[in-house]
Amino acid sequence: MTDEVQERFPQFSSEKPSEELYLAFCHSASIAIDCDMCGRTHFVSGNEADYDEGEYQKLLENKTTNPDKYIEHNDVDSIRWFRLGDDQIVFDCPCGFAAYFENIMINYRNSIIKYLKAKSDANLANAKDFAKKITELPEYDGQGTS
Ligand SMILES: [Zn+2]
Repeated sequence: MTDEVQERFPQFSSEKPSEELYLAFCHSASIAIDCDMCGRTHFVSGNEADYDEGEYQKLLENKTTNPDKYIEHNDVDSIRWFRLGDDQIVFDCPCGFAAYFENIMINYRNSIIKYLKAKSDANLANAKDFAKKITELPEYDGQGTS
């Protein structure tokens, strides 16, 4: 990757994400998708009929004029991606966000586990308190509020 490309597109990690991350998070695949983390557009080669009219030709033209932003994949039938909040993350994007995200989860796993347990305990305590208040209400007699 040239310095110019690195300046135009953020680089989160140079590592590859694991297949375990893919299996846990990737539930989507498309023939063309933008990576919201870096702005690149990924698309698969091949059958123009799979695209909207003129879309594939336009992607090829854009790739010719801007090859760092428009990445054609001729080795897959679809582009794997997942969503984090409102953002689309392309699993195999050169920006490496998927690997960055995976490394954060691994490096902060103890804090994440501690947080999830504390949050779960708090939610359970609130649910028990709510259930106790419900059982303490007077029996409803079907005659409106009392
Ligand atoms: Zn990206």
